[in-house]
Amino acid sequence: MARTIHIIGAGLSGLSAAVELTLRGETVVVHEATTFAGGRCRSYHDSVLGMTIDNGNHLVLSGNHAVLAYLRLLGAEHRLIGPPRAEFPFIDLANHEQWTLRINDGRLPWWILKSDMRVPGTRALDYLPLSRLMWAGRDRAVGEVVRFTGPLYERLVRPLLLAALNIEPSAGSASLAGAVVRETLTAGGQACRPLIAREGLGSALIEPALAFLNAHNSPVRLGHQLHRLRATDTRVEALDFGSDRLDLGSDDIAILAVPPYAAAALIPGLKTPTEYRAIVNAHFRIEPAPYQPPILGMVNSTTEWVFAFPGRVATTISAGDRLLDTPRDALARTIWSEVASATGLPPELPPWQIVRERRATFAATPEQDALRPDPSTRYRNLFLAGDWTNTGLPATIESAIRSGRRAADLVARQ
Ligand SMILES: Cc1cc2nc3c(=O)[nH]c(=O)nc-3n(C[C@H](O)[C@H](O)[C@H](O)COP(=O)(O)OP(=O)(O)OC[C@H]3O[C@@H](n4cnc5c(N)ncnc54)[C@H](O)[C@@H]3O)c2cc1C
Repeated sequence: MARTIHIIGAGLSGLSAAVELTLRGETVVVHEATTFAGGRCRSYHDSVLGMTIDNGNHLVLSGNHAVLAYLRLLGAEHRLIGPPRAEFPFIDLANHEQWTLRINDGRLPWWILKSDMRVPGTRALDYLPLSRLMWAGRDRAVGEVVRFTGPLYERLVRPLLLAALNIEPSAGSASLAGAVVRETLTAGGQACRPLIAREGLGSALIEPALAFLNAHNSPVRLGHQLHRLRATDTRVEALDFGSDRLDLGSDDIAILAVPPYAAAALIPGLKTPTEYRAIVNAHFRIEPAPYQPPILGMVNSTTEWVFAFPGRVATTISAGDRLLDTPRDALARTIWSEVASATGLPPELPPWQIVRERRATFAATPEQDALRPDPSTRYRNLFLAGDWTNTGLPATIESAIRSGRRAADLVARQ
């Protein structure tokens, strides 16, 4: 009898493991607690706006090679779109100054020598300290490795690292920040092109995987929450789903691709990150302004990024914990007044929705980063996946997909 690989969790880490293992001819079953796949990266119909929205705007950079490889496998690479060159329009809401950051292709960063490509108000030499992050020790915070001040910090380093790490950059892990800088900024413009799921996260990243698994007879069982692992000292013997229980054959394997708090509840004594940061998104039902760029960075404002979708304008605020108790309508009004001021859209508040993801990512501090476990566990037939496992990257789609692939490699080797 062929062995079965049970994957717990249908977020991107679980789906990428399932796709990889299905491709390798394994028998795969995915078990997902909720009634939908996608986890923290999902689309759904919002009844207030009467349209499909994403739980959060997701930005991928073209240097996220695991994301692009996953999409290529699924024939879905065209579902993330972006400009041919690395260009990031920005506006400073304090004085309405606008500029576009342009990163040249190739590894030699001559864009920092050109005043019309780099951040206004900065000099080429200001950028050099960024390289220190790439060799930073894992126990150091960004603020301990390099003290950025002035326009370079406010207009580039803070927006970039806040979006990538989802934590105020000075407190963030320098080694995670260094990984981002290494894989994107210093890899040249072709690694920095901003890509977005114009038709939604579900259509770009989730539905192609579900269609692939369905076509290859790898079932995804929704509403099938794992309640308990039954294990000896060295091996998981059964998966207990409450209403049913699956006894594992001697060659069967499980991959736990659930968030850290769920993994910690299932494996007593497992070390996981314990602190989280929120992300706040606002969605407005309105056509974007003529010539509004797909992504606009904002500084000196509550709003950090504005995304333009067909019939909808949406915004992102990272590390948004300070806004969790702000009344929803006050928040919508604040954000809309900023968006209207930046884009020229009418000041009247359009129909809106606020989505606050409290545990969007683990808190990317050096201390929390040190709590990320490797994929192997004390059980020889149980592996871990998830953006929060020890991938060397912040909690991003790229980290989730790499972790799923890594768990699949470990299974294949067994
Ligand atoms: C608002 C927001 C904005 C973001 N923006 C970006 C961005 O711009 N760029 C980027 O790269 N990343 C971004 N991220 C991060 C990205 O979404 C995550 O890194 C990625 O989706 C994590 O995937 P995962 O599979 O590791 O975890 P999850 O998506 O959390 O998947 C875990 C799955 O396990 C299921 N589960 C839990 N317990 C059980 C159980 N007991 N039994 C069965 N199933 C269970 C859950 O329901 C879930 O479906 C953002 C996240 C949020 C929330």
